[in-house]
Amino acid sequence: MATKDIDWGSLGFGYVQTDFSYVSNYKDGKWDEGSLTADHNITLSECAGVLQYAQTVFEGLKAYTTEDGKIVTFRPDLNAQRLNDSAARLEIPTLPEGRFIEAVEKVVKANADWVPPYGSGATLYIRPYIFGFNPVIGVKPADEYQFRILCTPVGPYFKGGAKPITIKVSDFDRAAPHGTGHIKAGLNYAMSLHPIVTAHKEGFDENMYLDAGSRTYVEETGGANFLFVTKEGKVVTPKSNSILPSITRRSLMYVAKEILGLEAEEREIRFDEVKDFAECGLCGTAAVISPVGCINDHGKEIKFPSGMEEMGPTTKKLYETLTGIQMGRIEAPKGWIHVIK
Ligand SMILES: *Cc1c(COP(=O)(O)O)cnc(C)c1O
Repeated sequence: MATKDIDWGSLGFGYVQTDFSYVSNYKDGKWDEGSLTADHNITLSECAGVLQYAQTVFEGLKAYTTEDGKIVTFRPDLNAQRLNDSAARLEIPTLPEGRFIEAVEKVVKANADWVPPYGSGATLYIRPYIFGFNPVIGVKPADEYQFRILCTPVGPYFKGGAKPITIKVSDFDRAAPHGTGHIKAGLNYAMSLHPIVTAHKEGFDENMYLDAGSRTYVEETGGANFLFVTKEGKVVTPKSNSILPSITRRSLMYVAKEILGLEAEEREIRFDEVKDFAECGLCGTAAVISPVGCINDHGKEIKFPSGMEEMGPTTKKLYETLTGIQMGRIEAPKGWIHVIK
């Protein structure tokens, strides 16, 4: 077997079918053993719970090749925990302990030829998800579920350098207080589609959502958490019960404190403080950090001193340290790198 003949550098972020997916079914109150499948289509009832009432949760992580040639994933135990937290909130059965990691290992090993080489900037994106399978028409949870993992190779997030983006303060809300903002549910993305299409039409790259209750505090974007750097060099990130606990953000906060020796704090951040920050970035698995150069609040622009040409200096240090850890160039904290092969 050999790595697929693909121009990894020019791959985008789109679905490319690989050789295998992983599938496990839940029926009569338990999960089956699970197995690999080469069938990338799903046949299900027109009345399936997922189609009628959006009963589905997902995860996203990457497999990639490190400097010394190993295929690894980054902190998959946190994805396993978070998938179960998401499932519980939507009355979806959780996965038995160890099953998630075992399934990720199996499906990545089976698709090893699709894991891009070190230095290409590309990765094998892994998308685990669970959805309501059997017919449901009265509003209630399904009785049968499918857990599936699909893999698809994705290109480097930044082609030709990470240019800062411009975002707008959205007039829409992402998540209600005590709602589902803290879980990775498809429904959160369905309702973000109109706001993001609207933002793009207006020339912005992303939306900044404020807390739906008071429109006073910064929450997150449609799919990434915020990190800010104060003028004193302190790293701060919004604390809220309605934002998704990003694994990248949690890792960056650890890197800031424990490796770079910076002050780092998770706290409520008022939108009116944002104009005083020195740097701003968005964090998530896809890009690690996307620098933000400008925030547009209904025509009023907040321009960060780091500018529109490159990442701010602290953001850059955080980015380089975490990507260095992920790629095996910098020693990783215990348990962060999960070797698959
Ligand atoms: C997945 C996701 C993130 C990023 O989380 P990571 O674990 O860092 O990939 C941030 N916000 C939302 C809403 C998400 O769904």
